Amino acid sequence: MSKIIVLMGAPGAGKGTQARLLQERLHLPQISTGDILRARAEQQDSLADEIRSVQAEGKLASDDLVGRVVQERTSQEDCRQGYILDGFPRTTAQAEMLEGLAAKQGNDISAIFVDVPSELLEKRTTGRRSCPVCGEIYNIYFKPPKVDNACDQHPNALLEQRADDTPEKVRVRLETYARETAPLLDYYQGTGRLHRVDGTRSPEEIYSDLEKILNNEVVRANPAD
Ligand SMILES: [Zn+2]
Repeated sequence: MSKIIVLMGAPGAGKGTQARLLQERLHLPQISTGDILRARAEQQDSLADEIRSVQAEGKLASDDLVGRVVQERTSQEDCRQGYILDGFPRTTAQAEMLEGLAAKQGNDISAIFVDVPSELLEKRTTGRRSCPVCGEIYNIYFKPPKVDNACDQHPNALLEQRADDTPEKVRVRLETYARETAPLLDYYQGTGRLHRVDGTRSPEEIYSDLEKILNNEVVRANPAD
């Protein structure tokens, strides 16, 4: 049975890396609601008109609208063997919609939460620095440069921190994510579809858990079981 993978993880949890590995190795397309809404709005039909008018008003697309666009995109040929969802579902209403879609498509849903303690997430994000010359990424906690605040290859270039990566802003992002995601985690826990993987390990170790989950080998019982 082909799989719908709902990949969840806080900012900095390494969800993007896992999505990329799944795409490369299993050749599953990654469906990002932001991307498909943007792409769909460029076409010339009533659905595109509807998306454009929501965007023009600066509103969030409704569950119904997002659901229709996701349904249309995932009905295409490249999704037949399964797909990875990014940014969907965001609400339990959307999660219920996805159940209906999965049943119609003959797909099985696996909700995978890449679990990383918030203290570690904060260090991963607030410790991040990059070289303005070569783009090399450092982390003052986990991968410090040889000389403080300078690139190993470009000693005269001062490392930069993204303005969004200050402790205050990171904390707000993490709290917002936790608050918005809690109902979805409850929902998938309740439907028996939730898999928590330990996101503190290396990308390859995490990926091997994902493969086991997708092959229906049990990785670890859900805490509430
Ligand atoms: Zn450099």
